[in-house]
Amino acid sequence: MEILVATGNKHKLQEIREILGDLPVTVKSIADLPRKIEVEENGKTFAENAAIKARAYYDLAKMPVMADDSGLEVPALNNQPGIYSARFAGADADYAENNRLLLRRMAHLKKDRRKARFVCTVCFKTEKGEWFFTGITEGLILDELRGEGGFGYDPLFWIPELEQTYAELSPEEKNRISHRARALMKFKTFLKDYFKAQ
Ligand code: IMP
Repeated sequence: MEILVATGNKHKLQEIREILGDLPVTVKSIADLPRKIEVEENGKTFAENAAIKARAYYDLAKMPVMADDSGLEVPALNNQPGIYSARFAGADADYAENNRLLLRRMAHLKKDRRKARFVCTVCFKTEKGEWFFTGITEGLILDELRGEGGFGYDPLFWIPELEQTYAELSPEEKNRISHRARALMKFKTFLKDYFKAQ
């Protein structure tokens, strides 16, 4: 089975390829499509945004599509940046600017109020229907960057049980415990049954 992964983010595509690697699926990226489209992510939740992307690419490619939407929620900031994680510091903000803004907004918060979680919702759409899978990883936001790996908020996201940030984990370790990995594990379990039913 071919599955189109509706993301332009190379880091995410790589993570998704690694996690789905042992299934009989070929992962296609939107770079393989003959035509480009702009999809406005104007939903109010991760699930709505994932569905908006999945539907748009399904209409374009007419093949099974997997789209995800993910972000960081900080309860002490009313769950910001949430669905605005990629554009927290502005529409063209890069990872460093988003990290700086997060550190500024949290500068006054003591450890007990620095809890955060990464959330990922996957939407899978085929000719048979639409399904959603959510994964969550809990952690704390540090007051300075630690680690060189990963992307986005990874150097600020500390996992107490591992005593490391996402950015200090090897790609294999991150793919075992990340929010995206957890959503994709659920998706994988579903896909195995989906294949059996074909
Ligand atoms: P999306 O591409 O619309 O899902 O936006 C995701 C945004 O959330 C990214 O641009 C990052 O800022 C943040 N994000 C999502 N997953 C991760 C992760 O695994 N590490 C760090 N940041 C992430």
